[in-house]
Amino acid sequence: MLAYQHAYHAGNFADVHKHLTLFALTQHLLRKESPITYVDTHAGRGLYPLGAPETRKLQEYRQGVAPLWLARERLQRGSALLDAWLAALGEAQQSSSELSHYPGSPWWLARALRAQDHLQMFELHPGEHAELERQQLPGNASHTFGDGLAGLLKRLPVSTPRLCVLIDPSYERKSEYLEVADALLETARKARHAMVMVWYPLLPAARHQEMLDALRAAGLRKLWRSELVRHAPGASRHGMYGSGLLLLNPPWGLDAALGEALDTALPLLGESARHRGEWWVEE
Ligand code: SAM
Repeated sequence: MLAYQHAYHAGNFADVHKHLTLFALTQHLLRKESPITYVDTHAGRGLYPLGAPETRKLQEYRQGVAPLWLARERLQRGSALLDAWLAALGEAQQSSSELSHYPGSPWWLARALRAQDHLQMFELHPGEHAELERQQLPGNASHTFGDGLAGLLKRLPVSTPRLCVLIDPSYERKSEYLEVADALLETARKARHAMVMVWYPLLPAARHQEMLDALRAAGLRKLWRSELVRHAPGASRHGMYGSGLLLLNPPWGLDAALGEALDTALPLLGESARHRGEWWVEE
């Protein structure tokens, strides 16, 4: 039984980190004409109204996307990536001035679709899947009610020359970290040039380390990680203190563009917020 619902966390600092990076990836991929298959293994919803009761309960967006949105004019020219991301975020709003919605990964990916591309999404929570279906994303996008990692592996190799995968589980089960590692290894085996982005939480229990270690031990190469630490791990015993991203086959230049965007954004995401980007396993 799945309990996690992303609406409670929509637009928080981890979403900013993840979707800014996802946006940078799609911008890079769109430089070439050749078709792309995108797979979103744990899709959630397309759009999250910030006024929904679930989102209003914790209001995590107030320490995430909201300060960036409010400062968007002042931030301009600090980072081309951040400017472009904030402009794209504006497309999800009902008016140009008010931040009323935060878009989830299906929206960010559907926005990047061209006629030659395809997006395949998976969602296992019946309510979240129904919502994804109801919201109807534009472009060549399809969704399946089912397990995302199994669905991804079943579809490999894809028919397009390029593949970009987002793996963004809720990690409700401890075993998910190693399941993600296995799925990433299998994806790399079946689609050698796939660009894959895995999100993981930084929690005091540090279970993400098992996943990182397993991938290194298995000999997978070209793995880059980006970690946004919001406060010291000990500051809260249970809470998520940071957001991590692991990228297989990251595009050249992503580290510099993301570093510049996050340097501009960090002062608004928390007094002690820090970012580090580095190879976990080099080429
Ligand atoms: N990717 C979304 C975004 O960036 O906006 C957020 C996804 S949220 C962190 C994780 C989602 O995965 C939840 O909606 C949850 O219901 C769904 N989920 C959990 N287990 C799953 C599984 N085995 N396969 C597919 N979806 C799953």
